[in-house]
Parts: sequence; structure tokens; C-alpha cells
Amino acid sequence: MLQQSIKYLPGVGRVRAQLLEQELGLKTFEDLLNHFPYRYIDRTKFYKINELGAVNTDIQLTGKISRITEVGSGRKKRLTAIFEDETGQLELVWFKNYQYLIKKILPNQIYVVYGRPTLFNHKLNIAHPEVETLEERKKKSFLKLQPVYPSTEKLIKKGFNTRLWTQIMSGLFKETGLNFKESLPLEILEELKLLDKNQALFNIHFPQNINLLHKAQTRLKFEELFYLQLQLLQKNLQHKKKIKGHIFEKIGPYFNKFYHDIIPFDLTRAQKKVLKEIRADVKSGAQMNRLLQGDVGSGKTIVAMLSMLMAIDNQYQATLVAPTEILAQQHYKGLKTYAEALGLNIHLLTGSTKQKERQVIHTQLEDGSLNLLIGTHAIFEGKVQFKNLGIAIIDEQHRFGVAQRAKMWQKNLIPPHMLVMTATPIPRTLALTHYGNLDISIIDELPPGRKPVQTLHRYRKDKPKILEFIKKELKKGQQAYIVYPLIEESEQLSYQDLTRNYEKIKEFFKETDFKISMVHGKMKPENKEIEMLKFKNNETQIMVATTVIEVGVNVPNASIMLIESAERFGLSQLHQLRGRVGRGAAQSYCILMTDYKLSQEARTRIETMTATNDGFKIAEVDLKLRGPGNILGTQQSGLMQFRIADIIKDAPLMHTARQFAYQLLQEDFYLKHPKHKQVRYFLQKQVQKTGFWNLIG
Ligand code: ADP
Ligand code: MG
Repeated sequence: MLQQSIKYLPGVGRVRAQLLEQELGLKTFEDLLNHFPYRYIDRTKFYKINELGAVNTDIQLTGKISRITEVGSGRKKRLTAIFEDETGQLELVWFKNYQYLIKKILPNQIYVVYGRPTLFNHKLNIAHPEVETLEERKKKSFLKLQPVYPSTEKLIKKGFNTRLWTQIMSGLFKETGLNFKESLPLEILEELKLLDKNQALFNIHFPQNINLLHKAQTRLKFEELFYLQLQLLQKNLQHKKKIKGHIFEKIGPYFNKFYHDIIPFDLTRAQKKVLKEIRADVKSGAQMNRLLQGDVGSGKTIVAMLSMLMAIDNQYQATLVAPTEILAQQHYKGLKTYAEALGLNIHLLTGSTKQKERQVIHTQLEDGSLNLLIGTHAIFEGKVQFKNLGIAIIDEQHRFGVAQRAKMWQKNLIPPHMLVMTATPIPRTLALTHYGNLDISIIDELPPGRKPVQTLHRYRKDKPKILEFIKKELKKGQQAYIVYPLIEESEQLSYQDLTRNYEKIKEFFKETDFKISMVHGKMKPENKEIEMLKFKNNETQIMVATTVIEVGVNVPNASIMLIESAERFGLSQLHQLRGRVGRGAAQSYCILMTDYKLSQEARTRIETMTATNDGFKIAEVDLKLRGPGNILGTQQSGLMQFRIADIIKDAPLMHTARQFAYQLLQEDFYLKHPKHKQVRYFLQKQVQKTGFWNLIG
């Protein structure tokens, strides 16, 4: 029944059916049924013309219509009229199908006019308003809440107005009757007091009152989120059932010694919680597939080290992969001290590792005497063979694709446990959606005693003062970053900007002994590394750079960051950049320098940065400003396109849906029980439709 063509519905017909398919992809009864209104108009409310300034929705007015004229010729031909009430007047205009109006509209009669006012040449007008006499309106028993359907320019021009939509939808409900199959388990309906499917569908199209409308919306949103989470969780759990993992039976001497005798501080509550989650995974018998999120400086490295020791204590090898050579070196230097204190064999493997050293690494990896391998993607190369890799940790997740991670798997019969660490906070709801098939751990607190970075907003004209301030801090022995935006690394102009600015800074500091490094995207990687290292070793005190310093560089002595044209950076970029300072004992500063004139959005970004250091809060704002597709760097087709739910506004409902989906799968993983027959059917249908198994891994 639901697969029938909409062609034969009253008000549709062959031509309109074709249009609906072309414009909105609506073919069947089912498509139409699921074509939900995106808003509703309160038809009990009448506006006055002088109230209209601020409204940007369909509204209704009452008043008189005069001066009906047909103007223009050919394709520009249209009908215009003046509408007025006690408070003012505006223009009405129709481009098509207006012959009947010429006859219908009489002077000195009161009409109800209904449409969306817009400003055109500083004058209010309404295009294609619907016009009714008071009598017509009284006779009609219409809905107080009138649905507005998603539509297109073309459909509107072809006469798809509210009246036509309502006619079509009424036809659909008459034709199908109210006997749609329930798609949610009855227990859930009862427990959450949700409307049943029929009531929900009816009220979403024909809301009987505002209360029922809200209930219908909640029910349908829940359903959408529930099925999404069912898919993701089923995949996650299936992975655990299917993919065996190494079992790290015991916590042994290396872990214990490191934990009790070597770490010079207590772990934070969040670090301990995450370690427990990892511990549970690596002894479960299933392969761990976990995303670890923690803001810059939250102490992910220690968690990584302890996780690797869990492997080593059980006679496995461990590896940590970083996205750049400099980061790999940084990790290596830090972890080497620990490894040596424990008597473990650790090596570094990157693109620039010498052949001789490589030989040693290969041999020791294969005979199992090498415990810990730190490196870059060089580790992914085919000739790198471990004897028994137990865990692979990947730092700064966004730099590696799924394919590269999969390469780690192919190295062993039983894949290593995978821990992917990222410092880019992803709002929880988004993470649950996008990475819903991974397990997620979050370090949501910083180690105690950190001095939060002070963030200030300054204008371009303040630059001399800012430079004086930087000079003062440098004299105290600190170092500074000065960052410029290069939207496109290849842009010749921006490059010139950078060099010009570099010269100016040199000029300003020329009386002092301070030395300057410059790093930008056009440099050879080797030269970049050399400059970075100079800065790291305090041979240079000022680092003039484009955003290439974004990822993970640790120079604790750098305590100032000046970001020029900060309005040109995105929020997450600003946050990442700021994370480069505040790593040492000194009070750190991040100065956001901008133009006077700022767009609303840029202002929000700057204000957010000065108001908080919390990466997750910043990510939430970013999500609101840019939408989920942009944040993930992909316009994830299908996955992020919800029919009715809103990933930002409906976050709490998403959590509930996930919880209930989880419970259901715990109870009946394959949905084999007769009472879950419908759920299984709807889930299969959805999987076929979205087919997004392939999209995420
Ligand atoms: P990130 O999460 O950005 O990778 P790191 O692991 O580099 O952070 O940790 C940042 C700094 O904080 C390091 O110097 C580390 O030794 C220190 N640190 C980590 N955990 C703690 C803790 N619980 N207490 C105090 N300092 C800590
Ligand atoms: Mg790190």
C-alpha cells in the first residue's frame, strides 16, 4: 500500500506527480507521508502591517485590497495590488495563476491575506499571498496550526501552496486510513509515554493542538534517532562479537612500577576513568576500537603509555603513531625517559630514520625484543613487521584515514587493540552520531594547578602596544608565537603578506638580541623542522608562522601567542592554536587581533574564545555556527541529514535514544523475538536506504 504511486491521489495527477518527484524526490505514499512540515503557522493570530518589520514567516492580515493592476509583459507579466489595514499598506504581487483573483477581489470588501512579507526596494510586499473573504474563512473548518511544507521555487510557482498541500495530504490519509504499522517497541512507547505511530503521523500533518503537535514531533524525532543508534550500536557490538582481540590477562610489574614509582604526579579522575575503560576493553576478548578525546594538555600521553604497558606486561609489543616527524620525536623523547627507567627497549621510526637504524628496528621488531615503537606513518609500511603487536595508539586522529588504520590490522591475524587519540573536541552528540560505532572515552578535566591562558581581544591599531608587551615578556625569558592566516597556502599575496610582516617584526626587535624563526606552508618539510627545532631549543625566541604549527607542538617556554586577523580563523583552529601556549609555569596569553569591523559570526567566535578555555564548549558553539557537516570536514550525505531531528537541539533525545537502543540490543541482539519483528523490518529497510556502513569505519 505504502509503495503506491502518488499519481492517483486527489490533487496530484500525472504532471504534478512528476514535479514532486523531480523537485523533492517524492514518489510513493510513504515518501509523501514522511514529507513532514518544517513549521506551522498559528492561524488564530492576525498581524497588523506596522508590526511586520521583524517577522520573517508566513503571517495573516485582514484589510482591504485596491488598485489591482496587471503590469509588465511577456514573462514579466504579473498582477499587483495594494493591501491596507488601519496601520499601513503594502504591495501584493502574483506572477502566475492569478486570473481568478481579478474577478474575485472587490473594493471595500474585507479580506484575509496570508503569506510571507519581504522587503523589496525598502518596501514591504507579499508575493503569492492567499486571499480569502471573511465568509470563506468562516465556512472552512481549517486547522489552527497550519503546516508549512518544504518546497521549492518551482513548486511554488506551479501552485503548490498551503491549500494544495493540505488537499494532497488529506487525500493521502483518506486513502491509507489510519493504520500504519507501529515501528517502535511497545515497551518503549509506554515507558517514554510516546504517541503511537498513527497519532504521531496524523498530528504532524494535521496538528489538532499545540500539545499534540509537540508530542508528535518528539515521537518522530525519537524514532529517527533510535533507528540511527540501533544501526550504529549494532555495528559496534557486532564488531566486538566478530573481531577477536588479544587478551591482556594481567596488570603486571611494568604498569605497576610506572604507575606507583615513576609518574611524578597523581592521575586526574578523568585519566583514571579512561584507563578503567581501556582496561575493560583489553581483557574482554574483543578488539578494542576506541576514540579518546581530550583537550590539549589534558594528559593523553600518560594514558597512552599506561595502555601500552598493559600490552607489554602481557608479552605484547606496542606502538604509538604521530602525524608528523616533529610530534613523533617529541613523543619519543618524552617516552624514552620512562621506557629507560623501566628497562624497556624503545625505538623511533620515521621517514628520516637511517637505513642502519632501520635494520636494527626490523630485526628487533621481528624477534620481539623491541617493546615500544614510536613513529610516523612510516610504521604503516609493509616491510614493518611486528612479532606480536598488542596495541596501536594513534595520536591526532584527524590526520589519518580509515584506510591507514586498517593497514595496521592486516599485519596480524588477530588485530591489535586500537586507541585513537584526538585533541579536537567533538561535541558529544556529534561524536555519538559520527563515531557511534566506536567506543568513546573522554578526558574532561585538566591536571590541577594549570594557569588558564588569558585570552584578549585587541584591534589592529593596538599592534605597537602588543609588540611592546611581547618584548616585555621575552625579556622575562619567555618565547612568543605570532601567527598569520593563510587561507590558501599557495596564495601568492598572502605569502607576500607574511614576509612583509616578518620584516616588520624583525625591524621592531632589531635593537634586542631576540632571534626570529619563520615557518610557513611553502617551505620544504626539512626546513620547517629545522626552524621548529630552533624555536623549541630556545635558539630563536619568536616564531612567525602560518597555521602549520597547529598540531601538537610542545614548547612549554612559549607563553604568548599573537594571532593576527583572528577573524579569519575558525573556532576550532583558534582553539588548537591557543593550545600551543599555557604549557609551562608562566602565565600565558593569547591575543586575538582583528579589524574593527567584524561580522556577527566572527564576533561570536572571538567572544567565545575570550569567554572560555573549554574545548568542548567551544566545539558546541562551533557546531551551532557551522553545522555538523562542516565540522567533520565532510558533508556526510545521508548520515547527517535528519528528516525531523536536529542534532543540536535534540541532543538529550539522542542520548535517550541511544540508551534505549542499547537496552534493546542487550536483550535481543538479532531482534529475533516476535515482538521485535517490526523493529527488525524497519531497521533493515533503513540500512538498505542509507547504506552507510561503508561511509564510516
Ligand atoms: P595532551 O593531552 O595534549 O597530549 P600531554 O599528555 O602532552 O597532553 O600532557 C600535557 C602535560 O601535562 C605533560 O607535561 C604531562 O606530563 C602533564 N600531565 C599529564 N597528566 C598530568 C596529571 N595528572 N597531573 C599533572 N600533570 C600532568
Ligand atoms: Mg598530545
